[in-house]
Amino acid sequence: MAKNVYFFGNKKAEADASMKNLLGGKGANLAEMTNLGVPVPAGFTISTEMCLDYYKNGMKLSDELLADVKANIAKTEEAMGMKFNDPNDPLLFSVRSGARVSMPGMMDTVLNLGLNDITVQGLIKKSGNPRFAYDSYRRFINMYGDVVMGVHHEHFEEKISAMKKSRGVENDTDLSGDDLKQLVEEYKEVVKTHAGKSFPNDGFEQLVLAISAVFGSWNVPRAIKYRKLNGIDDSWGTAVNVQSMVYGNMGETSGTGVAFTRNPSDGENKFYGEFLMNAQGEDVVAGIRTPQEISELEKIMPNCYKELVDIYQNLELHYKDMQDMEFTIQEGILYMLQTRTGKRTAAAAVKMAVDMFAENLIDKETAIGRVTPEQLDMLLHPTIDPKAKLTVIATGLPASPGAAVGKCSFSADDAEERKANGESVILVRQETSPEDIGGMDAAEGILTARGGMTSHAAVVARGMGKCCVAGCAALDINEKAETVTIDGKVYGPSDSITLNGSAGEVILGEAPLITPEVSGDFGTFMSWTDEFKTMAIRTNADTPHDATVAREFGAEGIGLTRTEHMFFEGDRIKSVREMILAKDLDGRKVALAKLLPMQKGDFVGIFEAMDGLPVTIRLLDPPLHEFVPHTAEAQADMAKEMGMSAEEVRVRVDQLHEFNPMLGHRGCRLGITYPEIYDMQVEAIISAAVDIVKSGKAIVPEIMIPLIGTVAELKILKDNAIKVADSVIAAAGVKLDYLVGTMIEIPRAALIADQVAVEADFFSFGTNDLTQMAFGYSRDDAGVFLPEYVDQKILADDPFQSIDQEGVGMLVQYGVDRGRSTKPNLKIGVCGEHGGDPKSIEFFNRVGLNYVSCSPFRVPIARLAAAQAAIASKKKTKLDVSVGTITAKSKVNA
Ligand code: PEP
Ligand code: MG
Repeated sequence: MAKNVYFFGNKKAEADASMKNLLGGKGANLAEMTNLGVPVPAGFTISTEMCLDYYKNGMKLSDELLADVKANIAKTEEAMGMKFNDPNDPLLFSVRSGARVSMPGMMDTVLNLGLNDITVQGLIKKSGNPRFAYDSYRRFINMYGDVVMGVHHEHFEEKISAMKKSRGVENDTDLSGDDLKQLVEEYKEVVKTHAGKSFPNDGFEQLVLAISAVFGSWNVPRAIKYRKLNGIDDSWGTAVNVQSMVYGNMGETSGTGVAFTRNPSDGENKFYGEFLMNAQGEDVVAGIRTPQEISELEKIMPNCYKELVDIYQNLELHYKDMQDMEFTIQEGILYMLQTRTGKRTAAAAVKMAVDMFAENLIDKETAIGRVTPEQLDMLLHPTIDPKAKLTVIATGLPASPGAAVGKCSFSADDAEERKANGESVILVRQETSPEDIGGMDAAEGILTARGGMTSHAAVVARGMGKCCVAGCAALDINEKAETVTIDGKVYGPSDSITLNGSAGEVILGEAPLITPEVSGDFGTFMSWTDEFKTMAIRTNADTPHDATVAREFGAEGIGLTRTEHMFFEGDRIKSVREMILAKDLDGRKVALAKLLPMQKGDFVGIFEAMDGLPVTIRLLDPPLHEFVPHTAEAQADMAKEMGMSAEEVRVRVDQLHEFNPMLGHRGCRLGITYPEIYDMQVEAIISAAVDIVKSGKAIVPEIMIPLIGTVAELKILKDNAIKVADSVIAAAGVKLDYLVGTMIEIPRAALIADQVAVEADFFSFGTNDLTQMAFGYSRDDAGVFLPEYVDQKILADDPFQSIDQEGVGMLVQYGVDRGRSTKPNLKIGVCGEHGGDPKSIEFFNRVGLNYVSCSPFRVPIARLAAAQAAIASKKKTKLDVSVGTITAKSKVNA
């Protein structure tokens, strides 16, 4: 049975890294490091289940838990050889949150817990350093006051600023021990004034309240927002880590830092990090003092550096992944306070995956799992055109790569508001804090005046895949006035800037951006996905250009060419309108004859671009009224062009009006009522293919009929198509194979898929329409209520983005199963937007589709998602088989 509290210390822990769900990532890794013999200050982890209990009990810690905490304090005291509340040599604690997945800076931390007017004397005795002791004490009151007692940090800040001013000094470190002692008294007064009660003296009482506060911080608004942005389950709760304090601020042989086993920004296999001597961890993360690069530590404390290098190498070897570590050196002795899988940029994720495979650290399947499809999406984001002439107005740290263009925004709220109004903004801040998370998400990029490579802005931006320039000292920001002054020039909310997160540059105006290519490590990595995925990835492309881009990204065919877009090209809309306005069949045929060579040209271009790969072309789908103008003015213009009266045009357009065009005269219904339109399109497709074949190249065109709901519709249109196609082929005297298939996008078609399959050479699920019709949500109007539905958890996701697996997904699965029941080898794909959504791709893989088709830029994402889905299903099959074997064996034994 799970315990409430797990101890770690003296090279032995009651838990290990596999227990992340119960102990949070931080707690599980502290235990693991302890077991590995890494020097970790002793302590204990209170489980996430206790957090859930805390909420169940009306925000109270149970007596049983309090007894366990007491017992674990005793164990910690024994391991450290010190006592909590000891007036001579007090053991102090840090209290930190730690959820199942890391939520950097989202929840609260308290350091130096256990200090009071008596124990501070003990700390002075032990350290011989009153300045250090009072510094720790005043920091504790500040943090505890803020986190546990709800006294805003700025009230403490006012006091220390006033103190520095009166002493005529600039830095906190310039204040004397006596100054800090006085500050302690002032801070206690601040607490009394703003919290309405005295600062608690008793160590155990301090601890109990701090644990409650950490549990409580699981539900502060910024944590809730972070979880929502990152898809983290609200019901997990956080663990609390209570750990013996060690001090990085005990003088010049002490220090603290954060380090990564590889560069999290570009992935280079080189120890990376920063540290501050004579400082506590918060100083490094807060970005108030500028830290030194980790390699400098070798000069200052060579032994500690060597030990740190040994530890980081061992930890990476042990976890087989890049680690993000926190360490503290107390009077020349190194302690590790944390290790976790490090967040990394998309580019770094790809490089690390490729390098670690080459180093034999991981296998290819693991490497493929190391990059998320979302990260690839970031890699496909633009960078600044290297040919562009740029005016660099300031340079900071290259904190998160990529490029972003937007107008200056000086607060998170403003950024969110302007984003909602469709503006692109760059968030320009002194430094960011966790409260800014919403604004950081809304901004295209982030620019800060202060902070280092591991500052809040840098870490969060990298996680979000946003470009960030941090620590740009040339910025003089006036948040109230909404201005930033650089080199004497003032910029405001209407000024555009461009950030280059890879070079740390701030550029005046809107620089031209370009899209990246699949080459180098990215190319290597992508080639691996093809070794594992079992579904093909096609693309939705309507032009030779899109087709070419998609092929460069690895598309294996076209899954959907929407021919309607071609009808708007150049002059041809005129012929389309002529066809629509024609009074009779003959008139329509005249207009269609004009369109034929143009359509044929379109298809030749696409077939050539795809160079023998399969191409599915869908016959006309949208209702005809989409091709005619609706304002009186535009109709009058059109009438003139067509040599008709305005009235004639108006009458015809009115005739075309439908109350529910999406459910109206569109798709195959057009093909049934105006067969000459589809005839023209089939003739264009087949004669284009004939030209390709005559040029000595291969092509098997796939003609796709949209929106069928009955077998009869498909049968009529298929027979027509075959008649036209065969006569073109016969006239040309060539050998040409072609397919005639259908979209499955009306629920009824999925339900009768066994009959449909008899008439179809292939199926392609149109999950956009299928979703629209299964839910009864208009795909063009659902934006009004869908966000609210997702917020209120009526729906887990927007079903037009990620397939609704239990509803619409069941129609797909049923359609696949029924279709293959009458045609076992039926080729089936999907060409709705879901074809580029990683979660949906995993589902499509599971139900046995042959391919997914998505927009060109999503092709690499789909390739990766398909490879990950195939690997996961292979693993699952293995597991199923082995579980089966065990069962069989136990039966035999029984
Ligand atoms: C679909 O309905 O999923 C589809 C691909 O067709 P369209 O989006 O053009 O209606
Ligand atoms: Mg459709």
